[in-house]
Amino acid sequence: MPQPRHPQERTINVNDILDHWVRGSSWAGASTRTAPVYDPALGTVQKEVRLATQADVGAVVAAASDAWLQWRDTSIAKRTAVMFAFRELLHARKEELAHILTSEHGKVLSDALGEIARGMEVVEFACGLGHLTKGAYSENASSGVDVYTLRQPLGVVGIISPFNFPAMVPLWFFSIALAAGNAVVLKPSEKDPSAANWLAALLREAGLPDGVFNVVHGDKEAVDALLAHPDVRAISFVGSTPIARYVYETATGHGKRVQALGGAKNHMLVLPDADLDLAADAAVNAGFGSAGERCMAISVVLAVDAVADVLVDLIRERVATLRTGDGRRGCDMGPLITGAHRDKVASYIDVAAADGAAVIVDGRDVQPDGAADGFWLGPTLLDRVPTTSAAYQDEIFGPVLSVVRVDGYEEGLEIINASPYGNGTAIFTNDGGAARRFQREAQVGMIGINVPIPVPVAYHSFGGWKASLFGDAKAYGPHGFDFFTAEKAVTSRWLDPSHGGLNLGFPQHD
Ligand code: NAD
Repeated sequence: MPQPRHPQERTINVNDILDHWVRGSSWAGASTRTAPVYDPALGTVQKEVRLATQADVGAVVAAASDAWLQWRDTSIAKRTAVMFAFRELLHARKEELAHILTSEHGKVLSDALGEIARGMEVVEFACGLGHLTKGAYSENASSGVDVYTLRQPLGVVGIISPFNFPAMVPLWFFSIALAAGNAVVLKPSEKDPSAANWLAALLREAGLPDGVFNVVHGDKEAVDALLAHPDVRAISFVGSTPIARYVYETATGHGKRVQALGGAKNHMLVLPDADLDLAADAAVNAGFGSAGERCMAISVVLAVDAVADVLVDLIRERVATLRTGDGRRGCDMGPLITGAHRDKVASYIDVAAADGAAVIVDGRDVQPDGAADGFWLGPTLLDRVPTTSAAYQDEIFGPVLSVVRVDGYEEGLEIINASPYGNGTAIFTNDGGAARRFQREAQVGMIGINVPIPVPVAYHSFGGWKASLFGDAKAYGPHGFDFFTAEKAVTSRWLDPSHGGLNLGFPQHD
């Protein structure tokens, strides 16, 4: 049995082991290692998940390579039909998936359905694969010569996903990878792995040939095996910045195409002319939704001095109305992913206080509507957090909202641009000129104007700047199809006798 990662976490009966998914069915592989999967609202282990060996990963990649030979030659019409069928099944069965997400991640059911909806948008976008994989054609580029481009699938691609969106992040990548004609090996987070197998079974039901989509469960050993495997052509990764950097450097070192999305620390700048009630609503929704375990969560409110006292009061009033508890009981906010993570997040409250911040609401005092052993931490509001504090600088990834007071737009912008992260940011104002300046001057990949979580719709692309994205391709949208296809340029001439003769010079156009 695996060693406990946190002493409080291991108590309970284990009655189920989650296998890998290969060639259209479950497969145990050869590994003897497993990891516990918790129900965070109960604080109990509900199953174990297998942790693949390097050889297991090799066997899964071999299955994907075999299946790809057929899938790459499957017509656009047939691939489109599979994607449409998958979308319909996902829509019809989304409640089932939402319950899996809530039971392993802890997010409340309404939020789990929201995650599925945002993932399903990418499936809908991928259904347009015929249009999105079209090449370009130039007739008579030179006399009698035509030039055209083809977009071809890469082969086997690896997807490595984080715990916080166990359905949406895989959907971002595999929908487009499959639509474009690739075979996929998904390595989901070992903390909430069941959604991946559920999606795999649904793809099978939608008509995807066996072996084209596979799931290998595991930890660093499985990831390293994927990063180094010569038959894996590309890696899409989402997770924390240190691992994103490692994945990017290692996989590019093995000659792969890589997009590696990392961590975040997202600021929301509230100018004095903003509607403060709307800004307070937005800060609470974006700060505490999914218990702050979102890469686009707002973790810092930059409040301009002139309105900061009022804004902090409005946020405090709203936080007092939130109900923390089991996501199956209609609460606003669920537990954190593990006991260890809950303790780490809670420790930042003392760090901030020691550094001079005011603790306005302390989430450690929460009375949850849920089991006593759940991994609870209530919404926490900190004011006057110094930017030198680790509570400001670190990605806390929990329900801790920090207010940093600034004297105006310039100081707010300076703080945002000094951050090593650049995932998302937002400005709240009624001044169009200020908003326009902000969208131009903020060194951040996704900007919200009176929108706190500016996740672009599926037909644009998602990705941050700086330490929030390594590589030059964002997720989904047009970038997604570019990433999962290789462009080939063809120059063609249909010969006639006039084209004869020897000429060793570099071809020139006529
Ligand atoms: P994580 O980096 O711990 O894990 C992500 C994946 O990497 C998992 O599949 C995990 O098994 C694997 N992994 C972990 N340690 C590894 C190691 N040493 N070597 C190789 N592989 C390893 O991230 P997490 O805790 O699962 O997810 C939360 C993080 O993801 C946060 O930092 C969050 O901001 C980030 N995130 C970013 C985005 C984005 O779009 N930029 C989206 C969602 C989450």
